[in-house]
Amino acid sequence: MKLIGFCRVDTSSLNLLISFKNLIDMGFAFMKKAVYHGIRDVRVEEVAEPKPGPKEVKIKVKYCGICGSDLHEYQHGLFPQSPFGHEACGEVLELGPRVEGFQVGERVLTFEKGAYAEYFTCPQERMMKIPQNMSWKRAAVVEPLAGAAYAIERAAVQPSDTVLIAGAGPVGLMLLLGLKAIGVQTVYMTEISPIRRKKAEELGAILAFNPLESKVSDMIKKLTSGRGVDVAIEAVGIEATLKDCLTSVCQRGKVIVQGIFTDRVPIHMLGFVTRETTMMGMNSINPSLAMNWIESKGIKPEVIVTKIIPLEQISTAGFEVLTQKTKEEIKILVEP
Ligand SMILES: [Zn+2]
Repeated sequence: MKLIGFCRVDTSSLNLLISFKNLIDMGFAFMKKAVYHGIRDVRVEEVAEPKPGPKEVKIKVKYCGICGSDLHEYQHGLFPQSPFGHEACGEVLELGPRVEGFQVGERVLTFEKGAYAEYFTCPQERMMKIPQNMSWKRAAVVEPLAGAAYAIERAAVQPSDTVLIAGAGPVGLMLLLGLKAIGVQTVYMTEISPIRRKKAEELGAILAFNPLESKVSDMIKKLTSGRGVDVAIEAVGIEATLKDCLTSVCQRGKVIVQGIFTDRVPIHMLGFVTRETTMMGMNSINPSLAMNWIESKGIKPEVIVTKIIPLEQISTAGFEVLTQKTKEEIKILVEP
């Protein structure tokens, strides 16, 4: 139920106004939630608190990260299966009927949409427990690391592979951490933002360079003695970066595509065929592998968090900031 100020009931000559306070007295509980109204129109509103259905858990949200896919929806419209607000962590507040394996008071991280709110309900299969020694901030970025874990495992990237990652945003940087976790030594990255390039090199990229300043395929050829990289990963979702990947891989190399694309992209298929490239799209997560990397390889995904903002500022200090060309922030967490 959504309330806009008050409900108004006309009874002949009498106007009966039911205020929020009356409704709260009647047993309704309200919370703040960021509601999607349309492109560049997300409003924080008072809505009724959700009730957990069968096999659902009600969660008090601690943080919900802004994902590239959320940003895409903010700028271009909702996906058919919208993921709006899916990188969350919080505390179990209430169990719906037939929930198994979770207790009230436990800390959990969730992969379900709808967490740009003080409370939300999550199906029990879309959440996992947070280890005792893990901070909230780290728990909030397990989901993006889990995307990298899925892609790296499914593409069977080897420690001896040379890799190019096109884009050093949250997706690209998580891939970099994942590649480091499995022992990959040679990772090159392209990125137009100097802040993000610096971060990429701090986190272990051998070189992060500006694709607007040097032709990427030439640069990669130079760096790999003319051979090209074994694996090129597209982590932006635009034509230029996809082309950079396709032209930078070696013979029988792999191109992994994880960026979210808005536009159709014309591809020069002759190079794709003659190089016998394998191209794979990736859009799933492997949370247990991500947890494993954190616990046994010392991966610290929270290094990409550059800002924590209150829910009220989700549009102004969150989405709008992330759409700016300067890309001064990397991962922003929303705290309801
Ligand atoms: Zn995400």
